[in-house]
Amino acid sequence: MFGIKVNNFGISFGNMEILKEVSFSVQEGEIVTILGPSGSGKSTILRAIASLQEKFEGEILLNETCQISGNQKCNKDIGYIFQDYALFPHLDVKENIGFALFNLNAIEKQRRVDELLKQFDLVEHRNKQIHELSGGQQQRVSIARTIAYNPKILLLDEPFSNLDSLLRDKTKLWLKDIIKKLGLSAILVTHDKKEALSISDKIGILQNKTLVQFGTPQELFSQPANLYIAKFLGDINILPQSIVQHFGITLQEEQSAIIRLNKTFVTYHPTAIKLHIKQVSYCGDYYELVLNFSEHNTFFIKANVSSDFNFSDNSTIYLDICASDILVVNT
Ligand code: ADP
Ligand code: MG
Repeated sequence: MFGIKVNNFGISFGNMEILKEVSFSVQEGEIVTILGPSGSGKSTILRAIASLQEKFEGEILLNETCQISGNQKCNKDIGYIFQDYALFPHLDVKENIGFALFNLNAIEKQRRVDELLKQFDLVEHRNKQIHELSGGQQQRVSIARTIAYNPKILLLDEPFSNLDSLLRDKTKLWLKDIIKKLGLSAILVTHDKKEALSISDKIGILQNKTLVQFGTPQELFSQPANLYIAKFLGDINILPQSIVQHFGITLQEEQSAIIRLNKTFVTYHPTAIKLHIKQVSYCGDYYELVLNFSEHNTFFIKANVSSDFNFSDNSTIYLDICASDILVVNT
C-alpha cells in the first residue's frame, strides 16, 4: 500500500510553466526527498500535496483513500513543517505544541503535550517564549507541534536549512529516527545533496521542470541518468577521449565517460596510462592536475594521491583507475 502517489503533476503560474509530468510515489513508512535547486518548484509540490495549491494538472492520491485534484482538497492526516517553522510568536512552547489538539479535553491535551515535551527534549523550555529559543529548539517545537496530532504523512520543506552544519547532521539522524519509529510516510524537499543522500529511502531529482530520475540513493549515485545528475550528486571527472579509448570504450554522440573523484588516483607506480604533469594545485582532500597525455593532448583532472607523493620529484605520473569505475552517461 502506498502512502502518497503523484501522477503527471504539472503547474504553471500565469504563462510560466514551473513543473510538468512529475510522477513518483512514496510507500508507507518511506522517506522520499525531492532534490532540486532554488526555484525549481519543490515547495510548490509540497503545497499541492497539502491542498494549499490550486489549479494544477494531474492527480495526487493519499493512502489510497483521498484524491487531490485541481479543485478537490484533502489535508486530513498531513503534517507540514515549514522552512521558517511558522511558530506562533504570541504563544509559549507548550501552547504552540498543544495548538492543534482541538479534539482532546484539557487533561488529555496536557498529557499529550507533556509526552511531546519529553520526547523532543523540551521539558525545561516549556514556558519559554519562541524568541527565547535557539534555531534548533524552535525546529523541535515545530516538529513536535506537527507530530502532536498524529499525522500519517509528513511534509518537510528544507527542514535543516536554518541550522548550522553540526546541528544539521545531528538533527538529520534524530528526525529520520522519529519518522521511522512513528512509521510515517515523509516527503522532504531540499537543495542539499548530502542531506538527501543520507536521510532518504528514495530521491527524485528535478531538472528542466520535471523529475528526471527517481530511485534509491545508491541507484542514483551508481547509475545517474545523465551528466547533470552525476555532477549534482558528487564530485566527478569527465574523462577525455584519449583516456576513454585506452579502456576500449566507444562513446556515442552526446555521451560522456565519467569517474567519481574517490575512484580517481594518480601514482608513481607504473600503470598503463603514463602522463606528464603540467600543473598541480593542492586542494586538501585531493589535487587538481593539468596533465599531458601526449604533446598536444592536455586535460584537467581531480585526483587522490598517496601521502608519500612528491610532485617536485618527477614530471611523470600514472593514472590509476579501473575500467569498472568508469560510467558512461548521457550529456
Ligand atoms: P523552490 O521551493 O524549489 O525554491 P518554489 O516551488 O517555491 O521553488 O517556486 C517555483 C517557482 O514558482 C518560482 O519561480 C516561484 O517564483 C514560482 N511561484 C511559486 N508560487 C507562486 C505563486 N503563487 N505565484 C506565482 N509564482 C509562483
Ligand atoms: Mg522552497
